[in-house]
Amino acid sequence: MHQERSNPMTTTQATESRTPRSETAAEVVGRLRATFNTGVTRGLDWRVDQLQRLRALLVENEQELLEALWADLRKNAAEAKTQEIDFTVADIDETLANLESWLQPRPVEVPAHFGPTTTAYTTYDPLGVVLVIAPWNFPLHLLIDPVIGALAAGNTVVAKPSEISVHTSAVASRLLRQYFDADVLTVVEGGAEETTALLAQRFDHIFYTGNGAVGRIVMAAAAKNLTPVTLELGGKSPVFVAPDADVDETAKRLVGAKFGNAGQQCIAPDYVLADPATAAALVPALRAAVDAQFGSSPQTSSGFGRIINERHFDRLTRLLDSGRAAVGGEHDRDDLFIAPTVLTDVDPASPVMQEEIFGPILAVVEVEDLDAAIAFINERDKPLALYAFTESEAVKSRLLNETSSGGVAWGQPVMQLLMTGLPFGGVGESGMGRYHGRYSLETFSHLKGVADVPLS
Ligand code: NAD
Repeated sequence: MHQERSNPMTTTQATESRTPRSETAAEVVGRLRATFNTGVTRGLDWRVDQLQRLRALLVENEQELLEALWADLRKNAAEAKTQEIDFTVADIDETLANLESWLQPRPVEVPAHFGPTTTAYTTYDPLGVVLVIAPWNFPLHLLIDPVIGALAAGNTVVAKPSEISVHTSAVASRLLRQYFDADVLTVVEGGAEETTALLAQRFDHIFYTGNGAVGRIVMAAAAKNLTPVTLELGGKSPVFVAPDADVDETAKRLVGAKFGNAGQQCIAPDYVLADPATAAALVPALRAAVDAQFGSSPQTSSGFGRIINERHFDRLTRLLDSGRAAVGGEHDRDDLFIAPTVLTDVDPASPVMQEEIFGPILAVVEVEDLDAAIAFINERDKPLALYAFTESEAVKSRLLNETSSGGVAWGQPVMQLLMTGLPFGGVGESGMGRYHGRYSLETFSHLKGVADVPLS
């Protein structure tokens, strides 16, 4: 892959000479729009070249990126490599392998009364200049992954990393400037102030990942220009554990899915719904699974991460008061450590059930049965993910058809994200729009309908 892209030194020099620090948001967008207007971004070769640059950036700088992820979130190298690098590279490879066929115009059936020579088809049209705004929890993957789709669809891009994940954002920004022509992709670093300046510009699509409060700001700004938005937000993703579930296997999988990245994942299981007998069996199994995965002292385990900053640490430790820590509960502010925790005796009205947890705390809420679980889920905002552990197809079917969520995974939380053939996105409060693989191309393109009626 390395040899197939143009000389990075040339790219670096070109970039540095074209991005003076004083450049305004309007100038950045104007420059990128000028590139788009030349038509150069439409060619397949151009798109492939951009994707190969992205791939080379990740593969050639793996060590430095892993070190930055460790510095921000104490992500251990194996987890960070799988989730932030390999998964992103796999998405690039899938796009490279399929892009030409995805871009083929698709014929549409023409009603017979238009005659045999009339044809119609759909074609993907690039949108123009795209803004990608990323969060801190998967600071590399969630910055790069939308950019894959934006470039594959033939757009120019402004990439805005999160200012909170300082180390990863700094390294990723420097590398993006090094590997990309700034007239194709420009990185703008900063927080609310810089993002506000960007949002005052006219983009052709805005792709935002983060919390719903800022999501509303993004959407309001986009509305002024009728700019379409994708909002990848969060929420409280429930897990239903049915009485027929194998509690040991359930606990093992739940712990694996919940406590990765210290629970700071948009699709982490947020709370468990189970009847009292199932909950009583599950809690000791969760304790055993935490011990098996992180040992008796998770603080010294290299496999357990840290909370991003003091603000989130304080928010999370306050939530511990919402129940009884049946597992974990220990915390150390100096080390930004909160142990993998399972809270029981949780009142549905308590703070831990009012906001997305987004940390290493799993709440267990007792409900009478499946009917009560479905009612509980439907009384709340539509979550990003719904999970269940059961062997029963009837239970799955009821949950699937009687609740609404961004995605669903039976038997293995987070699996729906890892399958790039599936669309990934929220619904209602958990967001709008979808991406990954072919769905990213759709998100960052306009699907144009073309009718062709011959003159003779
Ligand atoms: P964050 O604080 O990094 O904010 C996200 C982005 O918004 C940053 O780039 C930040 O600079 C920008 N921003 C912050 N304030 C702004 C303002 N006033 N105006 C304009 N831009 C502003 O990340 P976060 O929001 O704390 O991220 C966590 C949330 O994101 C959780 O709710 C989580 O569930 C959600 N999330 C969703 C997904 C998904 O794919 N659906 C993935 C990761 C995180």
